[in-house]
Amino acid sequence: MITDKLKNFVRRKSFHVTYVDTGSCNGCSIEVLATICPRYDIEQYGIFVHHPNPREADVLLITGCVTEQWKTKLKELYDKVPEPKVVVAIGACACSGGIFDQEGKRTHPPLKNFIPVAAEIPGCPPRPSEILDAILGVAPIVFKDYDKKEANK
Ligand code: SF4
Repeated sequence: MITDKLKNFVRRKSFHVTYVDTGSCNGCSIEVLATICPRYDIEQYGIFVHHPNPREADVLLITGCVTEQWKTKLKELYDKVPEPKVVVAIGACACSGGIFDQEGKRTHPPLKNFIPVAAEIPGCPPRPSEILDAILGVAPIVFKDYDKKEANK
């Protein structure tokens, strides 16, 4: 499709990530924030995290154990992101429930039960370097011409 080709040409070196918290303890959120800070500096790859509008996102970065309120909203949110798109699940909560996967719970992990997930990063919380690696790993799925080495020049 022409829109896919255009997107690939224009945004392959500046793609947008929307961060969504579906009920985390904020431990994972701090690690996501650390990827933006100077030590990991995710923007050197042309990646903009915390883009607030899912209609302009390429990657959904999702933490948390999927609370009651998020059960129906997740699919709606996913549908708003234009194709091609990928979802990355961050942390044990999103991948399997972690400490919130308990009996009589009002949480509904894992995330992949609600929307397709391209990559899962376990850990409580995962390290910023692992989050960075996962985002760089899914970039070629969204942008056929994405070259990690070239982006790092
Ligand atoms: S995986 Fe651990 S750090 Fe991340 S939201 Fe769950 S409990 Fe918090």
